[in-house]
Amino acid sequence: MYPREFDYVAPASLDEALDALAANPGAKVMSGGMSLLPLMKMRLFSPEMVVDIGRIPGLDDITDQEDHIAIGALVRHHQTATSALVAEHAAALAEAAAYTGDNQVRRRGTTCGSLAHADIAADQPAGALAAGATMVAASKNGKREIAAADFFVDTLTSALEPDEILVGIRIPKTGGGSAYDKLGRRGGHSDYAVAGAAAWVRKSNGTVEDARIALTGVGTKPMLAAGSMEAFIGSDGSAAAIAAAADRATEGVTVLEDLYGSEAYKAHLARVFVARALEQALARA
Ligand SMILES: Cc1cc2nc3c(=O)[nH]c(=O)nc-3n(C[C@H](O)[C@H](O)[C@H](O)COP(=O)(O)OP(=O)(O)OC[C@H]3O[C@@H](n4cnc5c(N)ncnc54)[C@H](O)[C@@H]3O)c2cc1C
Repeated sequence: MYPREFDYVAPASLDEALDALAANPGAKVMSGGMSLLPLMKMRLFSPEMVVDIGRIPGLDDITDQEDHIAIGALVRHHQTATSALVAEHAAALAEAAAYTGDNQVRRRGTTCGSLAHADIAADQPAGALAAGATMVAASKNGKREIAAADFFVDTLTSALEPDEILVGIRIPKTGGGSAYDKLGRRGGHSDYAVAGAAAWVRKSNGTVEDARIALTGVGTKPMLAAGSMEAFIGSDGSAAAIAAAADRATEGVTVLEDLYGSEAYKAHLARVFVARALEQALARA
């Protein structure tokens, strides 16, 4: 099916793109188009204007910024998946990018696009949550920072305003280790997550000093698993501590049944993947 008619602009600068968004409240940003275009073709979504940011220079790098790494708006899933910097400081995000879609999708879709899209079963939001990422949003009024924990608001809804562009994300260099694991809708790591979890852990003197644990595919949005984090931080990181944290994976979470699993199955998978992500993260910490 073809999309409904829409205006298309491909600004050559960020300022021009922000002007176009401010002047056209019915406009939508396009990065890789891997989620936006299918929705438009199915006519599930029909913006009046598409603002293609793909030609804006300076947004396609992953850079080392001393206390954090910066991932630009046009960094593709493939770049995130294969970057040595991301592997070192946010292995969970690298794995989530590597498990996103197929090769074509990974060469075209962007990490920031995946975050902005905020699908409840997307991979990289969980990686960004575990990494403690900060989202950098720009509008004509300037830039603002949004913590990953506050960014995913609801199904397909992020904290971005309609006139804002997610120009990049920052990942703090906080040491420790992280990992992401999931069951994909087509088995293994393929396709969106039936359920998945990302974990970041830092240990000191035999104690889990700090940890972040995030779920995807389970609730109404990608989110931190507060119960698991509470159980795991301050523990000895042993198998028993992992089991105790996994047991609390869905505490406070409204688990949603969907075409891919019942509520009970999703809750079970949440426990399984929290345990697996913690084991793998600890092995890297
Ligand atoms: C066949 C197929 C398989 C897929 N499998 C998976 C999978 O296994 N796991 C997974 O997580 N995802 C999967 N996806 C989705 C894919 O990862 C998309 O690339 C991603 O969701 C969106 O990135 P994009 O750059 O293509 O964004 P676009 O499609 O361009 O945009 C998506 C949405 O985000 C907004 N947006 C995009 N960039 C910005 C920005 N910088 N600032 C503000 N708003 C922005 C757009 O306005 C739009 O609403 C799949 C997609 C396809 C087509």
